[in-house]
Amino acid sequence: MLCLSLATGCAGSLPEGARPNPEGTADLPLPTPGAGETAAGDNAAPPRPQLPLSGATVVVDPGHNGGNAEAASEINKQVPAGPEKKACDTVGASTGDGYPEHEFNWDLSLRVRDRLAAEGATVVLTRPDNKGVGPCVNERAQIGNDAEADVAISIHADGGPASGRGFHVIAPGEVAGYTEPILEPSRILAEDLRDEFVEVQPHADYLADEGLDFRTDLGGLNMSTVPKVFLEVGNMRNSTDAANLTDPDWRDEAAEAITAGLSRYLLRD
Ligand SMILES: [Zn+2]
Repeated sequence: MLCLSLATGCAGSLPEGARPNPEGTADLPLPTPGAGETAAGDNAAPPRPQLPLSGATVVVDPGHNGGNAEAASEINKQVPAGPEKKACDTVGASTGDGYPEHEFNWDLSLRVRDRLAAEGATVVLTRPDNKGVGPCVNERAQIGNDAEADVAISIHADGGPASGRGFHVIAPGEVAGYTEPILEPSRILAEDLRDEFVEVQPHADYLADEGLDFRTDLGGLNMSTVPKVFLEVGNMRNSTDAANLTDPDWRDEAAEAITAGLSRYLLRD
């Protein structure tokens, strides 16, 4: 039974042996400044409303970079990528009409960043623009680690066979000494993202299984200590996918779906 009476106390409802508080309501918490009020003359901004993703840190990694094609020696240097070393970075794919993957990744990442930030998340990008070289795959992972991100996502588009279309999410496979701590949360993240992204794009029909792939050869996953996935948004070599990827309105829809997928994971109980 709940007792709501402050004036008379609730002695009648106390269990045997318990005593009513002899000082009545004196130990009720006193109002504290800042709890919905400010002192006179205080020009502090009103408290911000709590947003759904307040407190969450998300690292968004736009794959490749606009300067990579002109920096072969830099992007081909070998860097730690798990048990074996791999190239620092690659140039990425492009559509038949020459729309480059790095530009697509950058544009979509900004749309995702804006939506996550509007939901209250702290968003960290792994590169400041689309004009540079790299960063290397291990450095991209390290940015997520250093940010102690709740979630990291690497955004890409594939260069698959022209006859195949659709998206897939890549989660880390088991790599001893590397991915064990992030295997389970990354798998859940991958499923949440897949289940939202299928609203705008079908599962890939040329690889992966129901939109989900597990890989042990990606340095960006192997070197991550925070839950992380890659999203291959579509196949740039397929004309249907390319029409979507080059359409800014479609990229808005894609950004919405990615934000929904990450939110689904972040807001899990
Ligand atoms: Zn890529």
